[in-house]
Amino acid sequence: RSGRSAALRARMEERLLGARFRYLNQQLYTGSSRDAARLFRDDPAAFHLYHQGFERQVRRWPERPVQRIVRYLRRRPASLVVADFGCGDCTLAASVRNQVHCFDLVPLSPRVTVCDMAKVPLAAESVDVAVFCLALMGTNLQEILGEANRVLRLGGTLMVAEVASRFEDIPAFLKAMTQLGFRTVSKDLSSSYFYLLEFAKTGPARPGPAPGLRLRPCLYKRR
Ligand code: SAH
Repeated sequence: RSGRSAALRARMEERLLGARFRYLNQQLYTGSSRDAARLFRDDPAAFHLYHQGFERQVRRWPERPVQRIVRYLRRRPASLVVADFGCGDCTLAASVRNQVHCFDLVPLSPRVTVCDMAKVPLAAESVDVAVFCLALMGTNLQEILGEANRVLRLGGTLMVAEVASRFEDIPAFLKAMTQLGFRTVSKDLSSSYFYLLEFAKTGPARPGPAPGLRLRPCLYKRR
């Protein structure tokens, strides 16, 4: 009998955590990166809850996108300097020999430099590879990708792994990226979970509206 009520309680706690995760997740996808920074600064516990929920979601996937980026980097010279925007638990940095600058809002690992990804403490043209792995969350996409452009050297690589259902119009998105100073090198749209896009920096971002640069919020269903 007490076993049954413990199980019931555990299930209710699980539900509550799930609901809070979905609420936080929605806030992250519907506000700017600055709003996200404020949210987690004011409530670090919310951040840990978010990460637990995130982990639970991606564990269901057949493959973790970050592993694809690890494999990609291992095929290229270890001398390349990497910036990981929204690094989470720093799986990427821990899995490759490259120097990796890790940026996130709260330090899940001592490797993390805490900052808003729209403004990272790196010199212009100082990195070879910029990574956004499930991290393009803020509504100020253009500003965030402009920051990646700023820190990348000419010809440098931008890797984006994002939830497939977030893309409304891939050709329009890629066209907008050219305006932000990025040429598409490869796109892997084969997974129904996430797309993997590789770009090369062609020059500085051109100012002005980039209408195709839109991603739907990633809202998880209640399970
Ligand atoms: N790249 C990791 C984590 C993805 S979860 C992986 O693939 O496992 C998305 C991460 O982006 C979270 O850790 C979240 O805290 C971070 N993030 C969201 N908005 C951010 C912002 N404005 N600045 C820095 N990091 C941000």
